Amino acid sequence: MTAAVEFRNVSRHFGPVRAVDGVDLSIAEGSFFAMLGPSGSGKTTCLRLISGFESPTGGEIRIFGENSGSVPPNRRNVNTVFQDYALFPHMNVRDNVAYGLMVKGVDRVRRHARAEELLALVKLDGYGERKPGQLSGGQRQRVALARALVNEPRVLLLDEPLGALDLKLREAMQDELKALQQRLRITFVFVTHDQGEALSMADQVAVFSEGRVAQVGTPAEVYGRPRTRFVADFVGSSNVLPPEMTQRLGGPARWSSLRPEAMRLIPPEGAALSGQVTALRYLGAGTRVVVRTGGAEIGVLVPAGTAVPEPGASVGLGFDRAALHLMDEA
Ligand code: ATP
Repeated sequence: MTAAVEFRNVSRHFGPVRAVDGVDLSIAEGSFFAMLGPSGSGKTTCLRLISGFESPTGGEIRIFGENSGSVPPNRRNVNTVFQDYALFPHMNVRDNVAYGLMVKGVDRVRRHARAEELLALVKLDGYGERKPGQLSGGQRQRVALARALVNEPRVLLLDEPLGALDLKLREAMQDELKALQQRLRITFVFVTHDQGEALSMADQVAVFSEGRVAQVGTPAEVYGRPRTRFVADFVGSSNVLPPEMTQRLGGPARWSSLRPEAMRLIPPEGAALSGQVTALRYLGAGTRVVVRTGGAEIGVLVPAGTAVPEPGASVGLGFDRAALHLMDEA
């Protein structure tokens, strides 16, 4: 099947800054694809390269098999939802949503009818007369979504669209966005620096680091089988173990990762690995206990309802051998 979007060795350099540096990606049609990475890792630039607001300095971007090189943004069948929503404050909600159709010359009656359909889709029926300033953050977010969908793009680009919302609302919108994507079967390309958001919504996650893709995979793959130390660290809160430590735990002399939830505290006597508790972090659903052992700090997730040791206590560390994940890279 032809990919919705394909990057072939794509770069975008700004003078000495390698914002995007040799990226290969294939985004399947109808999928929810997340670009995850820290600030400045090149995610937004990749999105702008897809929308055509930015041009590559190297490589090729194919959209539904067509080299997008000479295709202007308005002919790409791609639309963007921005983090700040970019709504027109003086226009009411209906006109904001209908804007893309007005530009195309669709008559007033038809574009208003279509705008109402989209408002219903994002659960804002009856809000058409309001101005954006009279809406909550979550409602504005939905108007922005409806407005981006009005032109029926085949690919929807979302640049941290939930960044301005509080946690509760963000989680509700994550579920809604995912449901909407599954219903519409449009390809969603979603940029975020929030790993929880990427893992909970996406079919595929590309983890970015310094303009490059460190790993692409399903949420379970990038979380459970990180290829590099960077991925292990960024996607979750894994313990990254140097080769000596991996060996001590019975593995080969390679870098490895161990998820805190795959470890447990055991009595120190006779344990292969033991140390002192240096810090506790209450997380609600459990407590993260940090244990200093052999020069490394290892986090263990102790589920709520289980006894938590005092700082300074001697503890042993138990883990499932299968949970020790070896990584490719030093
Ligand atoms: P954030 O999560 O903070 O939005 P990001 O991963 O989306 O970050 P980009 O916005 O793609 O990162 O930026 C990648 C790098 O390219 C950054 O170092 C940024 O400063 C640089 N950059 C982006 N646009 C330009 C530009 N027009 N001119 C010069 N440098 C730029």
